[in-house]
Amino acid sequence: MNDCIFCKIIAGELPSWKVYEDEHTVAFLDIHPKQKGHTLVLPKEHCADFLNAQQSCLQDTLETTQKVARAVVKAVDAEGCKVFTNNGTVAGQDVFHLHWHIVPYSQIHHHDEHVSYADGEAQRVADKIRSFFSNDKADV
Ligand code: AMP
Ligand code: ZN
Repeated sequence: MNDCIFCKIIAGELPSWKVYEDEHTVAFLDIHPKQKGHTLVLPKEHCADFLNAQQSCLQDTLETTQKVARAVVKAVDAEGCKVFTNNGTVAGQDVFHLHWHIVPYSQIHHHDEHVSYADGEAQRVADKIRSFFSNDKADV
């Protein structure tokens, strides 16, 4: 049995605020965000981390990460973002299914904090990010 929490989200067994999905990858809001719009991008196929990833898996997730990062930055009116992936417990990895963090930043933001969403806010942020992937905004 696969106890991976992200595999369960991909299988629809656990909820998420999904912002993007294609054949090989999926992206959803981080449940404990460092900034509003903090998003995770991951391969649908289970793979523990960056160091163990196959080339094809890396390529798919990186392409999606760039696409989603552009949408995240626009959706929350940020000026830039951090993109990173943790490898191993010593590096702060908690979930052992490869995922890229996208954390949008503006000048006013501090880099060590966490933020929380008001009621309904996460859904609104997710909807806004997702809206950049509709046909009329396919340039993201
Ligand atoms: P890492 O420490 O790099 O493994 O990051 C794991 C991330 O997954 C953390 O930022 C968590 O807040 C996030 N996370 C854990 N469980 C969930 C969940 N059910 N839905 C969304 N994000 C989650
Ligand atoms: Zn998994």
